[in-house]
Formats: sequence, structure tokens, C-alpha cells
Amino acid sequence: MASTPIPTLSVVYPNRVCNQCGCVCDDIALTVEAGNITKADNACDMGQAWFLAKHSDPVDGALAWVKGQPVSLKAAIDTAAEILVQARYPLIFGLADLPCEAQRQAVGLADRVGACLDTTLSDEHGAFDTAFQEVGEVTCSLGEVKNRADLVIFWGTDPVTSHPRHGERFSLDAKGLFTPRGRADRFVVVVDVLETATAKQADVFLKIQKGCDFEALWALRAMVRGIPLRESIQKQTGIEDTALAGLSERMKSCRFGILFFGPGLCATRGRHKNAEAALLLVKDLNDYTRFYAKPMSGPGNVSGAENVVCWQTGYPPGVHFGQGFPRFNSGEFSAKEILGRGEADAAMMVAIDPKAPFSDAIKKRLAALPTVLLTSDAENLLTPGVGFRPTVSILTAPYTISGGGTVFRMDDTPLPLRPVRSSPRPNAKDVLAMIEKRIEELQTQKRVAMQNEKGPR
Ligand code: SF4
Repeated sequence: MASTPIPTLSVVYPNRVCNQCGCVCDDIALTVEAGNITKADNACDMGQAWFLAKHSDPVDGALAWVKGQPVSLKAAIDTAAEILVQARYPLIFGLADLPCEAQRQAVGLADRVGACLDTTLSDEHGAFDTAFQEVGEVTCSLGEVKNRADLVIFWGTDPVTSHPRHGERFSLDAKGLFTPRGRADRFVVVVDVLETATAKQADVFLKIQKGCDFEALWALRAMVRGIPLRESIQKQTGIEDTALAGLSERMKSCRFGILFFGPGLCATRGRHKNAEAALLLVKDLNDYTRFYAKPMSGPGNVSGAENVVCWQTGYPPGVHFGQGFPRFNSGEFSAKEILGRGEADAAMMVAIDPKAPFSDAIKKRLAALPTVLLTSDAENLLTPGVGFRPTVSILTAPYTISGGGTVFRMDDTPLPLRPVRSSPRPNAKDVLAMIEKRIEELQTQKRVAMQNEKGPR
């Protein structure tokens, strides 16, 4: 007799969080059937691609490897702890794709072993952070942008491609309290070197020459303050002086303006000076109206990493604990610089993006060091995307769907993650805590052994 198939139980989890870009949409409805996510309503194509990916565990069921061989979690943790304890200049980096609780644990671990701690995106965001330290930031939440902004400027960023729902939820079509007609209540300006997808939706597109953001921003500052330019800067910037003057007038006369700036602003010479010029321009504009600035942060929990490292150390990522207290020097203590100069003698990569754009020289350096990798991307372990095989690899739970915790949106608004399925893998936070505990034991053993060697006084 043919048996009746048992219907698969399907459960819908509303208001889940996606953090595949800085928008951190918190209105995603996930449908889970037989432990797999089969639908991600409200997510954009980028978010759907991530949620509906397999997130499968390795076929042999292993969760940890040492030198490519599957081992128990405890054995991997012991080896990782030994690597970090024996190193004279350990580097811990990555962090951006972790919840804040695990990031906090990573800061504690770096402090314990006197490591240098950095994020994978510090190169890009480091320029923003340095600018914030120099001149401060006039900032607001994305909710205020949605409800109030009648002038939106995107400078060196293309959110239609990189942050697909930014326009719909906050900056272009979103209908707010004082912007009830959505797009019709906003004037949108894009300044970029190319006519991007966002530029095609803008009211005005100003095509700027590559590397001339600093000049254009300072010219705008002069125009806003009513200081006449001694000579035309059109030749340098590629933007007509009248177009810049028109923009400065529009900025001064809007009710609520927002300048979103992205990696394009800091990708050329000047870097943090360009971001500084943008922040100063916005500061000046507050003599006339309400104007704010906001960097467009990347995927994962980049804003969380910046906030957590700042709370714990007083500095943005790129912090060195080698002297027993946190030190910060922009550039000097970035992972790229330390690996480039060949200073680190061990490296721990936490939640690193397997597609991180390491140069061949850096991959070569990492391949020569004892390394520990914590990742939730099983594919990355099977075919190492980082270009070398780490000494110790540990597979952790995908925190957005299985782990829980807190992540920060690009406007520094914290949002809670709520798991939709269980995972046999450990959380990154727990693994980091276990490594730190083992390190503490090893350090105590070492201290006792040294005291015994010296003998009684
Ligand atoms: S816009 Fe970003 S956060 Fe929102 S669903 Fe798409 S990828 Fe996820």
C-alpha cells in the first residue's frame, strides 16, 4: 500500500535581520522547511542569494581541522591557543562578520596575548575613522533621513548596486513624516567619476575627475561661506563652476540635507583628507540649515566592529596591545601594513571574508606563518578562498540565522539577531572564549614553571 507523504512543516519567522550590506534590513520574513531557508520575503536579490544559499555543514561532519586533518574541537582550540601564546607579535584580524558580542570577545583575546587587532575593512573605513577623529561628525539616523531629508547627495557611492534597498527604505522613494510623497519630495544629487546606476536615478549628476574630490569639496566650502574663487577649478575637477555654485546654493537652502559618502571618496590620494573635507563642509552648512553626513558602510557588522573596538579601547580598529595597553596609529597597525612589513609571526583570522582582496605578497606571508581561521563559510574551508591553508580551521555557526546577538546598522543603530534554525557548529563567541580560557591556563602554567625555576627566595 502506498504510504501518504508526511507534509513538510514550514515555519515563517517574521522581522528577521539581513546584514549583507550596511542597510541591515530588519523586515525579512524567512520561511524554514526541514531546517532549510526556502523563502526570504522582502530581501533584495543580494540578501536572497545569501539566505537561500545552502549554509551546509561539511559532509564528513567535522567542525575543526589542524593542518588539513579533521580533529576534535578541543584539539583545534588547544593548538590555536598554543600558536597565539608562543607568538611574539600575533595579529588578530577580520571581525567585521561577527555579532558585537563575539567582537567584544575578540578584543579581550587580543588584549590577553598582546596582539595587534584589526578589521578586514580598516583600509577603507580607516580613512573615515581618521577623519572623524580629526574633525568630528554631524550625524543623524536613517530614520531621520527617511522622515525629513529633502536634499540627498551621494558622493563616491552607488547604493543602487551596493545597498539595494537603501533608496526604498531611507533615501530615495521612502515616504516619511515630512516627505509624504517620497521621491517627489526629495532632490537627489550624485557626484561620482562614472555614471552609476544611482546617478541614472538622480536629478543631477556631477561627473568629477578621478582624484579631485578634495578640490571640489573645498571649493564648495568657499562657495557656501560666500568666498569667491580666485580662478576656475573646472579644469581640475571636470565640474563646471556654475554647477558647483548651484549645488552650494541648493545645500544652503534645503530644509534637511544629507551627504552619503562612500569608498569612492577615499579611494584616491588624500584619502582621509577627502572625508575630512566632506565632514567640514557639512559642519559649515549647519550655519544655514540642518545638514548631516554619513559614510556608507559595507557588508557584515562593520559598524559594530568600529563601535565595539572604540568602546573597549578608545580607538577605532587597528589597535596594538603589545605594550600592555591599547595604542593606535592609523596605517601603522593595520593588518595590511603589519603583514606587508613581515612583522607578525602568527595570525588569527576571525570571520574573514573568503573573497578578501589580499595581495599575492600578503597571501605568501600568511602561508609562511602559523595561522588560525574561524569562519562560518564551509565552502571556504573546502576550497580555501584565502589562497592558502591555515594551520587551524574551525567552522562556526552562521550567526545571522543560527547564532543570535547584536549587529549595528550603518547609522550605528543596534539591531538584535534572532536565530531561525539550530546549528551543530559552535558560535564564534564561544570558540573565542574557549581559546582565551586555554591561553589563560597556558600562561599560568608558564608563570608557575618560571617561578619554580627561580626557586624559593
Ligand atoms: S538591502 Fe542589504 S540588508 Fe537589505 S535585504 Fe538587501 S542585502 Fe540585505
